[in-house]
Amino acid sequence: MLISLVVPCYNEEEAMPLFYKEVCKVAEQMRQSHGAEFEFIFVDDGSKDGTLRVARELHDRDPRVRYVSFSRNFGKEAGIYAGLQAAKGDYVATMDADLQDPPALLPQMLDALLSGDWDCAATRRTTRKGEPPVRSWFARKFYQIINRMGETEIVDGARDFRLMSRRMTDAVLEMSEYNRFSKGIFSWVGFRTKWFDYENIERVAGQTKWNFWGLFKYSIEGIVGFSTAPLVFAALMGVIFCIAAFVGIVFVVVRALMFGDPTSGWPSMICIMLLCSGVQLFCLGIVGEYLSKTYLEVKHRPIYIARETEADRDKH
Ligand code: UDP
Ligand code: MG
Repeated sequence: MLISLVVPCYNEEEAMPLFYKEVCKVAEQMRQSHGAEFEFIFVDDGSKDGTLRVARELHDRDPRVRYVSFSRNFGKEAGIYAGLQAAKGDYVATMDADLQDPPALLPQMLDALLSGDWDCAATRRTTRKGEPPVRSWFARKFYQIINRMGETEIVDGARDFRLMSRRMTDAVLEMSEYNRFSKGIFSWVGFRTKWFDYENIERVAGQTKWNFWGLFKYSIEGIVGFSTAPLVFAALMGVIFCIAAFVGIVFVVVRALMFGDPTSGWPSMICIMLLCSGVQLFCLGIVGEYLSKTYLEVKHRPIYIARETEADRDKH
């Protein structure tokens, strides 16, 4: 039984050795308890620091370590995809390099899959300790909104740390879309998922790659990728404004017939015009968002471009 650990890494030279050490302990323990063999796939997402160097060193020392290095930064989602493609395991896990995903959970997760009742063991954090409160608030709101309008359930606090069966991994790989929102993809493919809760852990070294703007764009990506509700909303706004305009016309005509036609009220006219054009631009923006995603999708660009893998290194 082979278990592949897929680890997307962007500027993680400090965290990777710590991660490797930690995960080796668990691997040894699981070799004895479950007879599981491991492979570690580090995906260097175009890092600017020594991440690739560390990956090469680890591979030279330990042939279980494999790596894929990108030609530039393609983002974590692309990293996960590349890792899943490279993974040969019967079970495949994705986890972060910063040890925010505790490897100690892996034995329990594997037990769940081996029991035959589950295809996937996923994790979610129960607290958002150590995170700015504003960010937590927006995150909670985001999950509320996306779950209310989407057909795909996105679990609040779900991490990208999960262990999947080969079947589910293949299903995820079949979703070769360019705009990848993993949380949505994992949920969309279905399968039976067992959830494991744990408290938020701070990263061991290095810095988070997320800022507020990045998270905001990511949330829009999630909504546009997995729901067409905003388009319905745009159409609905159109209908509401038509009705309002119709009522307004009737009112104005009746008033003019009954009381004559005093030409006053241009400030209110300006306000209405601004409101209407604002709503129009907003709805156009929503449509544009979907159009831009479609545009990128039909180009069929590769999700990532590899510059070097461990196979290249073995050749020399
Ligand atoms: N990551 C990546 N490419 C990126 C950004 C992040 O591969 O463009 C990796 C990063 O190295 C880490 C994981 O994704 O292993 C999670 O990133 P981070 O810890 O910054 O996110 P957070 O845990 O704060 O949500
Ligand atoms: Mg992290």
